[in-house]
Amino acid sequence: MQDCIFCKISRDEIESQKLFENELLYVIKDIAPKAPVHLLIIPKTHIASINDLSVSQQSLIGELVLQAKEQATKFGIAQSGYKLIWNVGADGGQVVPHIHLHLLGGKKLKE
Ligand code: AMP
Ligand code: ZN
Repeated sequence: MQDCIFCKISRDEIESQKLFENELLYVIKDIAPKAPVHLLIIPKTHIASINDLSVSQQSLIGELVLQAKEQATKFGIAQSGYKLIWNVGADGGQVVPHIHLHLLGGKKLKE
């Protein structure tokens, strides 16, 4: 998608520090962190929201969750715990219309 910020980061058209990248996904630190550790795990394919997911993309979701687990271990929060969050649509608080998994941890998080 031409004007999508996460597609632009994927194509390196916007500068970012990718913590991890493979052919399917990449990981960046959230620009406005809501916890000591706040990462975004983002597929390279443009999918606007979880509402737009197809059955054929289910393995991609598994890859994103497994990568979140890897990052939690890397950041030393696997044992203390963390939240994985998908925001969906307006009421879900989704601002960027390209799916991304939030990984939050490093402190006791409220509901
Ligand atoms: P959401 O509200 O679920 O759509 O989350 C979008 C997240 O992307 C927010 O937490 C933003 O702080 C974050 N964000 C937006 N632009 C950037 C960027 N250029 N680099 C890193 N994080 C970003
Ligand atoms: Zn996109």
